[in-house]
Amino acid sequence: MLVSAIALADSGIAMEPVVVKAGEDGRLRTGQGAIWHDTSGTAKLEAAQRALADGAFHPLKSAGSTGLQKGSYWSYFALRNSAPKAVTLHLEYVDHQLIQLQAYARPAVSMAGFAEIADLSMGAPFSARPVFHNRFVVPVSLGAGETLEFLVRFDSEEVGFVFPSMRIWAPEELSKSHTGETAILAFLFGGIALISLFSLIVGVTTGESSFFAYFVYGISKIVAWGTIMGFTHQYVLRSEFHWSYMSATGAVSILCGVMFDRLFLQTRKYTPRLDYILILMMLNASVLLLSALFQIKEVALLSITFALLLYPASTFIALVRWRQGSSEAAVFALGWTLLLAGLFYQALRDLGYVEHNLVNYYLPPLSSFIEMVTIMAAMGIKLRRVRLQGLESERQYRRHLERSKVELEGLVRARTEELEKAKQQAEQEARTDPLTGIRNRRSFLAEAALGIKRAQRKGEPVSLLMFDIDHFKAINDSHGHGVGDEALRLFSQTIQKKIRETDVFGRLGGEEFALLIIETKPDSLHTAERLRDNITQVSLDCPGGRVQFTSSIGVAHSEPGDTLEKLLRQADQALYRAKERGRNMVVEYRVEDQPEGIAGSSVAGLEPAESIDAEPKPEPA
Ligand code: GH3
Ligand code: MG
Ligand code: MG
Repeated sequence: MLVSAIALADSGIAMEPVVVKAGEDGRLRTGQGAIWHDTSGTAKLEAAQRALADGAFHPLKSAGSTGLQKGSYWSYFALRNSAPKAVTLHLEYVDHQLIQLQAYARPAVSMAGFAEIADLSMGAPFSARPVFHNRFVVPVSLGAGETLEFLVRFDSEEVGFVFPSMRIWAPEELSKSHTGETAILAFLFGGIALISLFSLIVGVTTGESSFFAYFVYGISKIVAWGTIMGFTHQYVLRSEFHWSYMSATGAVSILCGVMFDRLFLQTRKYTPRLDYILILMMLNASVLLLSALFQIKEVALLSITFALLLYPASTFIALVRWRQGSSEAAVFALGWTLLLAGLFYQALRDLGYVEHNLVNYYLPPLSSFIEMVTIMAAMGIKLRRVRLQGLESERQYRRHLERSKVELEGLVRARTEELEKAKQQAEQEARTDPLTGIRNRRSFLAEAALGIKRAQRKGEPVSLLMFDIDHFKAINDSHGHGVGDEALRLFSQTIQKKIRETDVFGRLGGEEFALLIIETKPDSLHTAERLRDNITQVSLDCPGGRVQFTSSIGVAHSEPGDTLEKLLRQADQALYRAKERGRNMVVEYRVEDQPEGIAGSSVAGLEPAESIDAEPKPEPA
């Protein structure tokens, strides 16, 4: 144990060298057995060597990470090549977030001073790195059976997490592993990029703002993770890089994420009070962005920590929205919880509670990818719901239109019926004598003319009866005009009751009426007599006593070719005769009764119908 003895003598700590061989696959790591915390962060090699000699190096107490500390850390370790030939190895710092790394080495047996073998810095051009890798890598060579002692300075500038440990690789093994990791991350980033692009397309087609926000969020994630994990420096900003880019892109990503959350969960509308938490998250992210721009690392770290502490709020709000009935919020909560789990596990590592390993190293970007996929599913659910809502409202609108149409048709039908009724009523009124309700003069003349034509066409006999109430003026005079009106109504009702439906009956004016009947001469005379008799039977009770009245009737018979006018004239002449003869009688028109030269006049030559009622009837009282 010569090597150990030398190390012991120099450093004052019991320290076994790590035995290495060719083909190392990264599983072996330099120990954390001797760590010195330089709180000033400015100590140079000499100071570190003195600290080593003074026994200031101690084993790391936490699990891998130093936790959030000021200053820089020095690690002392030894490697021994047990093989009989020289070996070249790549020592890879386990994390991507380190500002500077300086490595010094010396052969264990020589007792010579440490010589610098690497000076790596995040701010230096990427091409200055001895090994093409997104993390710091220090190449070392050990001769056959040689043991080398190392002092490595890990610096996170002012304050930060440090994992004072390095993985040991054969160069080709590291290269293979790096290619594999890069491929996997390229796959994840490619997936997020595709999801973002898809979201953009859906946003353009649907006009839903949350899809645009999701597109921006996805892109910001790729930029942030790519920058934080060192790929932006490795492939894009090769010549100049600064730690603040990591904070700035992270801040923008958080901002975009929270903005998306607010749009997607509609927090301002449905959970206005919880929305303030999301606004606080946005403010905090803005502080992070500003502290990155002004390169105030302490504020940046505080605000990152605060951001992580606030992250669970999104899950909580999503669960509240789920309880409010938004099913996509449940899926959102699941995706966000996955991301949180990843970040939380890494935070445990960063704070030194959990040992660094590939799982907690890659979980955040992986869970970020899974979160993107899950939330895309949630977006799908939301889109489906929006589409269904659209269809439903369209259905309702159509139903409403149909209902309105039916209502409108009903209204139009009712209105048409009303108009039709009004029209019929108007026509009826135009035809009707308002006092008696029977045909007025105009209607009688029109209908009687038609009746005559129809009868003549069929060769049927037609007779016209003309009535005039006797001494009607006396009724008016002794009982008043109202009783006179009543008498006119009673007269027309009496006649109306005794005639056929096909007979045409109307009031010609005053107390004069006419009736057209399809009957032979004798029948029509009988009818006239019967009607005259009926009139004498009816009476009217009024305050002044009982009122009775009689009617004189003139009858004319139609010969082929006769017109209504002619019949009216003849009936009128017969009526005149009836009056002349003493009233309350039926008189038939006869040509031979007419005085010469004045045939057709209503003045003279009319005799009472001989067959019937030659004698005048006594008039009612
Ligand atoms: P005659 O036996 O010669 O027919 O005598 P008359 O009194 O019936 O005849 P006249 O022509 O002298 O009188 C008819 C009266 O009928 C005169 C008029 O005031 C009355 N009259 C006309 N139309 C109406 C009406 O609508 N209502 C009432 N109450 N009287 C009417
Ligand atoms: Mg008269
Ligand atoms: Mg009269």
